[in-house]
Amino acid sequence: MTKVVVIGGGISGLASAYFLSQQIDPQDITVIESDDRLGGTVSKVEFGSHFAETGPDSFITRNPSAIDLAADLDLSGRLISPATNSAFIYSRSALHPIPPGTVFGAPSNFKKFFGNSLISKTGQLRAAIEPFLGQAKIQGDTTVGAFAKKRWGKEVTDRLIEPLVGGIHAGTVYELSLAQCAPQYLDAAHTHTSVSKGLRSQMANYTPSGHPMFYSLEGGLSSLVDSLVGLLEKRNVEILTRCESAEILPLADGYRITTEGKSFDAEGVICATPAFVTSRLLKAVSRTASELLDTIDYASPIMTLLGYEDASFGEPLRGSGLLVPRQTKTLTSAITFATNKWPSWKSEGETILRVSAGRIGDNRVWGFDDRSLVATLEAEMTNILGVRSRSIRSNVARWQKRIPQFKPFHSQLIQRIRESLPSGVELAGAPFLGVGIPACISSASLAADRLAKTLSKPR
Ligand SMILES: Cc1cc2nc3c(=O)[nH]c(=O)nc-3n(C[C@H](O)[C@H](O)[C@H](O)COP(=O)(O)OP(=O)(O)OC[C@H]3O[C@@H](n4cnc5c(N)ncnc54)[C@H](O)[C@@H]3O)c2cc1C
Repeated sequence: MTKVVVIGGGISGLASAYFLSQQIDPQDITVIESDDRLGGTVSKVEFGSHFAETGPDSFITRNPSAIDLAADLDLSGRLISPATNSAFIYSRSALHPIPPGTVFGAPSNFKKFFGNSLISKTGQLRAAIEPFLGQAKIQGDTTVGAFAKKRWGKEVTDRLIEPLVGGIHAGTVYELSLAQCAPQYLDAAHTHTSVSKGLRSQMANYTPSGHPMFYSLEGGLSSLVDSLVGLLEKRNVEILTRCESAEILPLADGYRITTEGKSFDAEGVICATPAFVTSRLLKAVSRTASELLDTIDYASPIMTLLGYEDASFGEPLRGSGLLVPRQTKTLTSAITFATNKWPSWKSEGETILRVSAGRIGDNRVWGFDDRSLVATLEAEMTNILGVRSRSIRSNVARWQKRIPQFKPFHSQLIQRIRESLPSGVELAGAPFLGVGIPACISSASLAADRLAKTLSKPR
């Protein structure tokens, strides 16, 4: 009997196998991945004379788990930070810098915030009454949107907080959990009568980690995946691709993981698959966990790479990119000026844009085939950025049901899921601690530690 099967070869599954391999004999671990490629959402394509990433292009350093993993893999010397972080918001047919004096979109310092070009005078005055509203009353959790609208008004919520906080999740702040998606606001509401003041004090007390806010790696985030796979193979962890798990069946002394070709009997299993897949896999193991997992919604973004001749832009693009509020109604929800952010992606004379489209409640983009999608996005690039010609190269990456949505009381939902699992079954991935790469790695570490404790003979 294999000791552990890890289902899913994205960053969460590979990291789970890595953390397990520190605790049990690596030869007792099998990773099974349905695709012919490892890495899941972490992916890159050749684009011109260089590569470009079609999934994540950086990770936040506030949670150090990705930096620590990179160090374990001897990749610290290959960490790189974006050349620029300054971003814009596209609203009312113009680009506006993200207003100063804000924390994660929320006004914290009104002296700096006043006079910004994004929010109207009336909207700024409405936001400024926040310190006089009295203590926020929250019964455990609410949506980011409901909270922000009460504190700073609808305009700040829709034009600023929606694209920033909603954008990360390809979701809408009017459905996302405050506790999970904007915990800074909630902490500030607990410690201060004015949330804006609480956010200001968080900033004042922030101790810099010595790292920039974001990192990637030379060669892109796929370098992390490639190094992980290399190390796991060196340790003789079995990694199988094109191997789709169909279900997990309970046995007297473990679990049977079935696939089309063969089945694996194991003492323990880590599911690092999307929640709706895990729901299917666990039907025979825990009906409750299966039903609860199935309630987690997913957004389906599409990432389109557009390569333009530099001359297509009237003047060079400034900053790392822009976000588009939902009310603007374009297909485009965000644009990364990829060759500004990552100068190493640049081929001579070519500017690369990463255009995100598709978010929860807006799946218009899925009605387009690749050709018409590229043409429509090119027209939007003309409107938004004044691009004067068509792209010279493009790539469309469709990420169907890839970003989990955290509704209010999400952490309680996860707690109930965990409590309804039998010993020997653990879960890792974006639905558990957050969608970012570091949160996925933390969830993997937690799953591996918990599982190792239940196995018969830890190393
Ligand atoms: C367009 C986009 C941009 C993003 N940008 C960022 C960013 O800049 N920074 C950041 O930190 N995060 C970003 N994210 C989020 C982050 O990339 C993901 O949350 C993270 O990669 C998820 O990893 P995972 O391993 O949990 O899941 P996945 O990457 O989805 O991996 C799950 C794996 O399970 C496999 N699988 C599914 N079903 C089965 C089965 N039945 N049997 C076997 N295998 C199966 C899949 O093929 C897949 O390989 C982005 C996400 C998207 C979609």
